[in-house]
Amino acid sequence: MALREIRIQGDPVLEKVCKPVKEMTPRLKELVDDMLETMYNANGVGLAAPQVGVLRRIVVIDVGEGPYVLVNPEIVESDGEQTGQEGCLSVPDMYGIVTRPMHVKAKALDKDMKPYEIEAEGLFARAICHELDHLDGRMYTELVEGRLHSYDEPEDSEEEDNE
Ligand code: ZN
Repeated sequence: MALREIRIQGDPVLEKVCKPVKEMTPRLKELVDDMLETMYNANGVGLAAPQVGVLRRIVVIDVGEGPYVLVNPEIVESDGEQTGQEGCLSVPDMYGIVTRPMHVKAKALDKDMKPYEIEAEGLFARAICHELDHLDGRMYTELVEGRLHSYDEPEDSEEEDNE
């Protein structure tokens, strides 16, 4: 296993549509292992293959419920709504407010190419939506309500005026 370089917004690889995986080769298995290691090392909850420069439909997610590997994933149902903070390892130290479905049901293949379904809610549902967008070259920054915030900046002064 090895850490891979995380591509940063502005890198054209993040704007491309990824190709489906037809066969799980040793090389792609190594990619999956490296993606998990890279995600944990960066304290992320999800990572998509294009974020490490590979245009394949593979994502890894761990929101604290164990690692999930999603190959050729598709959202088959979604409902409800949640509005909250979202960030991305390809947009370091920033976050924005994004509305996503509260529940999603997705189907995918695991790393042995066995089909399975996941039902997810809350942060897990948000992570699935966010990571699947990466596979189609979409960044969460397109969906942010208002502007991006830095984790370092003080709260908006308008809100503090109310005291
Ligand atoms: Zn992201």
